[in-house]
Amino acid sequence: MSAVLEVSGVSKRFGAFRALTDVTFDVREGETLGLIGPNGAGKTTLFNIITGFLRPDAGGLHYGGEAIDHLSPERRVSRGMVRTFQKSMVFPELTVRENIAMAARQRAGVGLRWGGAQRRLGAAEARVHQLIGDSGLRRSGGERMSDLSYGEQRIVDLLISLALEPRLLLLDEPTAGLAQEEAERLLQIVRHHDARTSVVLIAHDIDIVFGACDRIAVLNLGQVLCCGTPEVVRADASVRAAYLGA
Ligand code: ADP
Repeated sequence: MSAVLEVSGVSKRFGAFRALTDVTFDVREGETLGLIGPNGAGKTTLFNIITGFLRPDAGGLHYGGEAIDHLSPERRVSRGMVRTFQKSMVFPELTVRENIAMAARQRAGVGLRWGGAQRRLGAAEARVHQLIGDSGLRRSGGERMSDLSYGEQRIVDLLISLALEPRLLLLDEPTAGLAQEEAERLLQIVRHHDARTSVVLIAHDIDIVFGACDRIAVLNLGQVLCCGTPEVVRADASVRAAYLGA
């Protein structure tokens, strides 16, 4: 399986503090990679480097086989890199469907002045319908965002990101603050995402990551302790010592 993202030897300091040291791992086409590690391990710093908000002091990134270190965050987005934040990005006064449709239309390029706009609009609407239907939300889509529970809003956040049909989706703690059932529903959506999308999922809850991811990278004190399947990570002695407390 080829890699959509390769992170090679990335280091980052803040003053004298080493936030990341020689971080190397890859994200493969279509997989869900979990990124775990204690608070302060460097997970968010790594997301900031991947998305171009921070520059590494050493090392580099390849995305779709191309070096992207010189690309701005906007250029990375235009190449299909989508990131969610811990804070919701929805428009509360719009409906669920309207929020998702905005992303789907943007993806479809509707509004541009060349031919086929009607067909693309139709495809975008169909995509919205399908995303809501497959989500298990048990909502018609006509509800205002502000009428949904916090957990449902986070699920819609995810649907908005998926409507953009990203090549690489970076999810920063999407399940934080969610009730168990909502967290499971959200992960169900992540697990059944379009095979053309690769996902990197930051989560605190280890059980969540082990259940939802194809592979897991464990960060500790800015270094990758281990990267592999859940079985490999569970069995790794350095991970058990540093993170699993065993
Ligand atoms: P995580 O997401 O794993 O909790 P972070 O990447 O947020 O970890 O932080 C890693 C370390 O780098 C922390 O000790 C944090 O305080 C530090 N750090 C992050 N950003 C900055 C910054 N802009 N300036 C100084 N220190 C920072």
